Amino acid sequence: MESVVDADEQRALKEVAAKLAVERYAPKAEEWDRDRTAFPHEERRYLGELGFLGIALPERYGGGGAPLQHALTVIEELAKECRPAAFQVFESNTGPAQVVARLGTEEQGERFLRPIIRGESTLAVAISEPDAGSAATDMKTRAVKAGGKVVVNGGKRWISNGSEADYYLVYARMNDAPGSKAIGAVLVEADRPGVSFGQRERLMGFRGIPSADVLFDDVEVPEENIVIGPGRFRELFGAFSIERLGNATMSLAIGQAALDRTKRYVQERTQFGKPLIEFQSVQMTLADMLLQVEAARLLIRRAAADFGDGLPDSLEVSLAKCTANEMAKRVTDLAMQLHGGNGYTEEFGIERLHRDSHGWALAGGTPAMQRIRIVSELLGRSFDQRR
Ligand SMILES: Cc1cc2nc3c(=O)[nH]c(=O)nc-3n(C[C@H](O)[C@H](O)[C@H](O)COP(=O)(O)OP(=O)(O)OC[C@H]3O[C@@H](n4cnc5c(N)ncnc54)[C@H](O)[C@@H]3O)c2cc1C
Repeated sequence: MESVVDADEQRALKEVAAKLAVERYAPKAEEWDRDRTAFPHEERRYLGELGFLGIALPERYGGGGAPLQHALTVIEELAKECRPAAFQVFESNTGPAQVVARLGTEEQGERFLRPIIRGESTLAVAISEPDAGSAATDMKTRAVKAGGKVVVNGGKRWISNGSEADYYLVYARMNDAPGSKAIGAVLVEADRPGVSFGQRERLMGFRGIPSADVLFDDVEVPEENIVIGPGRFRELFGAFSIERLGNATMSLAIGQAALDRTKRYVQERTQFGKPLIEFQSVQMTLADMLLQVEAARLLIRRAAADFGDGLPDSLEVSLAKCTANEMAKRVTDLAMQLHGGNGYTEEFGIERLHRDSHGWALAGGTPAMQRIRIVSELLGRSFDQRR
């Protein structure tokens, strides 16, 4: 994988993605949100044809082999208008497919990544469980080798694209070792006997991205589906940290979109005979929004810069995710405030941005959990949350 960003190529990608977002997805975004419509398969295939689903995945499986920043640029542009469209690019370039690309076998790359890159299939990540959210290593789902197979039992919760995805990267206990030592990851196809799904959740935001429990009852998959065995938790969660950069970029896009819309609105809307922007408190608020968006942007840029085939720095990732997640919640709130009653309608799209901002802060580890990581890295020690 290349580690150097090509500025011209990145700019060109940004332009194509921005045009696509505005012309193709913005007109649909409100309807998909209102009706909780899953992103249409033909649209996913279209993103595949454009090469967007494999930008930062290896060329040998049909990907673009470009640095992660190129994919983050596309995610940002799409997410400003339509998070369900951006989610497809997020999941393949920064999510579980990226974990398979980095930790999986060549055969898994051929079998799973090729169709994902073409937009024919999707892969969701299944870590959280009813009693293991922030405390992810309390997970109980088991994936145990038996007679050349792996048998999976357990239940996962809050799975984005759950019931919609074709494959699941399931984090599970693979032996009887305590805590994180037993945890590995295995690929499970949705059509294996014993896989079932809970009802689709009715989330506050994330409405064009289905979410459901995924249940495994004596599900058998070949041993070749194991991506990483037990005892390599650091590598597994290290690769997952790339997803956090995608997540932070979603929040960045939300904040940027709220800022862009507010910038226009406060210059157009007049009260007391003059545009809102002429009031000093409005100027201060707009400046505060920009300050927060740019701080998040720079932290993401630093964390995503040039780690090539290696892994991003864990402190930098947590600083970026925590800042971006909280920025998006605050900035969309300020945008709603400056839009007055219009900000509270569905028509202006601000409330949708605000609803989605909360979802991205929960997914991938809450800001509180990022803070625990931040202070651990700062002090060079771990803080046991169980004692
Ligand atoms: C929109 C959305 C999409 C998601 N997508 C996926 C997905 O695709 N795959 C997947 O596996 N999971 C997914 N999740 C699950 C997500 O990772 C969890 O919701 C998240 O990790 C928090 O876990 P929890 O909901 O169980 O909250 P809890 O862990 O119960 O936390 C509740 C509150 O307590 C705080 N808290 C917990 N422990 C501590 C502590 N030690 N110190 C201080 N505060 C603490 C938390 O910060 C939070 O504020 C998704 C969740 C959402 C909402």
